[in-house]
Amino acid sequence: MVNIELVPCPDCDGTGVLEYEEGWCVWAECTCCGARTAFLTFTNEEEKTRAERGSVDLWNARKVIHAHPGE
Ligand SMILES: [Zn+2]
Repeated sequence: MVNIELVPCPDCDGTGVLEYEEGWCVWAECTCCGARTAFLTFTNEEEKTRAERGSVDLWNARKVIHAHPGE
């Protein structure tokens, strides 16, 4: 398992969590404002672990897609 340590949301200081889509992609998302990282896809357990780490790294580097573009 990946050690998941997500910093507070860069947009609103909310809680970030890892979300999964039907076992083929993962991203980190804020439970408050919906800001999220890019989707990272995987096809096996090894890639899944890498995608999870990548999602955490993107989030913690504050590389998120804002829920309200244009603001
Ligand atoms: Zn947020």
